[in-house]
Amino acid sequence: MRTIKTDFLIFGGGIAGLWLLNRLRAAGFSVLLLEQDRLGGHETLNANGIIHGGLKFGLAAMLRDIEDLDDMPALWRACIAGTGDLDLSGVRVLAEHQYIWSEANLAARATTFFASRLITGQVRPVDGADRPAALHNPGFEGRVYRLSDLVIDIPSLVSSLISKHKSCIYKVSPQNCHLETDDRHNTTAVFITAAGLEPIRIHPTNVVLAGGQGNAALLEDIGLREPAMERRTVHMVMLKRPNLPMLHAHCLGASRNPRLTITAHPTRDGEMIWYLGGELADEGAGRDERMQIEKAQRELKELLPWVDIRGARFKTLKIDRILPAGDRGLLRPDNAYVQAIGNNILTWPCKLTLAPNLGRQVLAHLEKEGIKPEHEQPAEALPLLFPEIGQPIWDILFT
Ligand SMILES: Cc1cc2nc3c(=O)[nH]c(=O)nc-3n(C[C@H](O)[C@H](O)[C@H](O)COP(=O)(O)OP(=O)(O)OC[C@H]3O[C@@H](n4cnc5c(N)ncnc54)[C@H](O)[C@@H]3O)c2cc1C
Repeated sequence: MRTIKTDFLIFGGGIAGLWLLNRLRAAGFSVLLLEQDRLGGHETLNANGIIHGGLKFGLAAMLRDIEDLDDMPALWRACIAGTGDLDLSGVRVLAEHQYIWSEANLAARATTFFASRLITGQVRPVDGADRPAALHNPGFEGRVYRLSDLVIDIPSLVSSLISKHKSCIYKVSPQNCHLETDDRHNTTAVFITAAGLEPIRIHPTNVVLAGGQGNAALLEDIGLREPAMERRTVHMVMLKRPNLPMLHAHCLGASRNPRLTITAHPTRDGEMIWYLGGELADEGAGRDERMQIEKAQRELKELLPWVDIRGARFKTLKIDRILPAGDRGLLRPDNAYVQAIGNNILTWPCKLTLAPNLGRQVLAHLEKEGIKPEHEQPAEALPLLFPEIGQPIWDILFT
């Protein structure tokens, strides 16, 4: 049997696990990351990629006027410039800004809605040719505002986060990976077996549970059913058609959440898709695929009638968003969820946007507890495979 000691063992290769892998390695810790499926995560690769600014949890948060703690877009921009918490200079920015548009009949509401943000410059009205092409049409009579949010390409983010740490990342199957714990919920060892290979026992000083929805099973492995997580199912819609205009925008509706959110993403075949969320996706959880596509077509016809979607191919994705249970996610939208349980650190980022906050919280916890690097990074590779890198759903569905 091979026995290894490591400062950190991370479960999960979505944004939470990969971000922490980078931050912990940069802080001098030895780290191994185990992924049971594909790298890039489940939620992460299927996210819109919006790095929310003052809005944090979207328009709902803005309506409650939650003040900023950290300016997430600024932290991400620094990383992308190579001067931030991490070097993300390989990340492709799809849009420097996200827009909000309102229809003419809601224009007065939009002005009231943005009043304080307009003064501080977080939101700025845009007219004429400064508007995105899809909202620069004689038929459009509403208003358009520009936000500080940026939109990033997730596959390039995942490549950037794994590029320097490939030798720390391994594929495991849940059946062959067993956690050994003590009666205080400390993970004392992780035992990995694989057919035809020497068994491996890893003794981690600390463990990070960054499995997204898989955290429930990991918590059970350490003998806990709490903290509970909440799944919120959303029904996203994708459409693909040559020459779709580039658009990254929310449509302000009559309720707290955006009526429609659109982000545009490049596909592997060099074309582009629109990824539709917002209320359409939140309220579409109960609709089947056909009904959801019809609803999306009606929304596009009503909100952007001049955009030609004739002949577009539509697909949908039902996916769970994972948040800590209760209202915590919405009450504290400016923080990722981090909780120490014995030598385990349980994490739910709540938003891709909050990855820098997650990293900072975990490092602050280590500092506070006086946790320092103890072990060298294993010199020899483990006899385990490197996981496959996942793809966004549109590259799978539109082949
Ligand atoms: C449709 C959609 C759109 C979104 N858009 C945005 C957006 O625009 N902006 C934003 O800020 N946020 C957005 N989010 C939220 C954001 O995507 C998530 O908060 C974030 O990606 C969660 O990351 P994660 O690493 O916790 O989980 P995941 O990305 O799901 O990764 C968890 C990983 O852990 C692995 N795993 C699980 N259990 C184990 C185990 N036992 N051993 C090893 N590996 C394990 C899984 O296989 C998976 O790869 C969106 C979410 C959805 C669903």
